[in-house]
Amino acid sequence: MADHDPEHLAAWRAEVRTWLATVAPPRTEEVFEWGVGDPRLHIFVSMSHDEEVAFLERVREYRRQRFDAGYGAISLPEEFGGAGLPSVYSVAFADEEREFAVPPSSEIISVTTGLVGAAVSVFGTPEQRERFATAFLRTDLLCAQLFSEPGAGSDLAGLATKAVRDGDDWLITGQKIWSSNAQFAEYGFLLARTNPDVVKQGGITAFIVPLDAPGVEIRPIRQMSGPSSFNEVWFDQVRVPDSLRIGDVDAGWKVAQATLGFERTSSGSGHRRKGGTADDLVELARHLGVNEDPVVRQQLADVYIRTRLHAAMVAKVARATASGDKPGPAGSLGKLLASDNMVRIGDAAASMLGSAMVADTGEWGEFAWTEHVLGAPGYRLAGGTDEIQRNIIAERVLDLPAEQRMDKAPFKDLAKS
Ligand SMILES: Cc1cc2nc3c(=O)[nH]c(=O)nc-3n(C[C@H](O)[C@H](O)[C@H](O)COP(=O)(O)OP(=O)(O)OC[C@H]3O[C@@H](n4cnc5c(N)ncnc54)[C@H](O)[C@@H]3O)c2cc1C
Repeated sequence: MADHDPEHLAAWRAEVRTWLATVAPPRTEEVFEWGVGDPRLHIFVSMSHDEEVAFLERVREYRRQRFDAGYGAISLPEEFGGAGLPSVYSVAFADEEREFAVPPSSEIISVTTGLVGAAVSVFGTPEQRERFATAFLRTDLLCAQLFSEPGAGSDLAGLATKAVRDGDDWLITGQKIWSSNAQFAEYGFLLARTNPDVVKQGGITAFIVPLDAPGVEIRPIRQMSGPSSFNEVWFDQVRVPDSLRIGDVDAGWKVAQATLGFERTSSGSGHRRKGGTADDLVELARHLGVNEDPVVRQQLADVYIRTRLHAAMVAKVARATASGDKPGPAGSLGKLLASDNMVRIGDAAASMLGSAMVADTGEWGEFAWTEHVLGAPGYRLAGGTDEIQRNIIAERVLDLPAEQRMDKAPFKDLAKS
């Protein structure tokens, strides 16, 4: 029995290490020495369309190897196509994988394998599992997450994209937004309103929609940091067969909740550096000759302490996950610490670089820090905004009174702002 047997886990870890060594070299330390190499401090990667396709192909090649070796869906039950191992194995795999220079993951890869692949495995019919689950878990097909809308982000259950029955099909009309990497995906995992006469959570249904279907239009959104990672996805009477509905009609909220839960427990997604670190900041201070300045030293100490606190919180969440617990509010604290520190690191770099932050002189490393500063705000929103994390901490950790709910009426009677 594999469950929590330390000897079995240690032997499995050794096998993982041996396998990883056959597909990737060991990872080397990633602190930039000023003026050396290519300074990569971006948070959102800036690539041309063709470069991004080639990059995704490298990641997909690795994910296929990983799936075929049995490490694609470690904690997913065997009947759903996973390895059926306890969460501690997923955490162990992520630890081992971090030691190797495997291709870094990207949003669409994590969404396809960690969210949609798992959701189709659990909620799909046998035919859907046969057709999609392995293809998503192995990244043979990519699937974007089409949840958010202009009027439904934090309040996801307020979504307005409609799906109306038409014989054996559904006709979908509406707009999704912030759909990461949808321009590279074959499918979208979409939530739509199928019944406006019940409370908002009660009338939602989940679908897998082919993004080349007539009536689908994908419009990339250019970000202030340069790249176009996100898209608007428009649906104009898009015909989708009922065979692509995931879960029961009007039971999409349950599918959505479970899917967002998989996000938190999905097994290692390939380490990816996100922006500059406290160490990079020290290197910048040294290069500018301000590392003896007391105000700068205070900023450096502040982000260093916050970096250590975040690492401690990540370790706590990993331990909780490994022992089968839900990370709960500790996950919110970790997310908040990470996005807050990312912004503080950018602010400290900006105050050191001064006008060079906006008027790029072409000197090594300057624009790299600008890319960090322009990307950081996105992480205060993604995966639940700072304010939503604070609400969770207030209500579930500090036991403060819950938010007033004004949305208990049927969806069609809720005031639209
Ligand atoms: C990097 C990134 C990747 C993303 N990828 C995807 C994707 O692939 N697919 C997808 O569907 N979506 C994606 N999103 C969208 C993301 O889920 C939403 O941005 C997020 O849920 C916030 O919603 P919103 O942008 O509509 O902001 P809103 O919910 O409109 O919030 C606006 C402001 O109001 C505050 N606020 C809202 N409600 C409350 C409240 N109850 N209490 C206090 N303050 C509140 C928020 O904190 C925020 O400051 C992505 C976003 C980012 C930044």
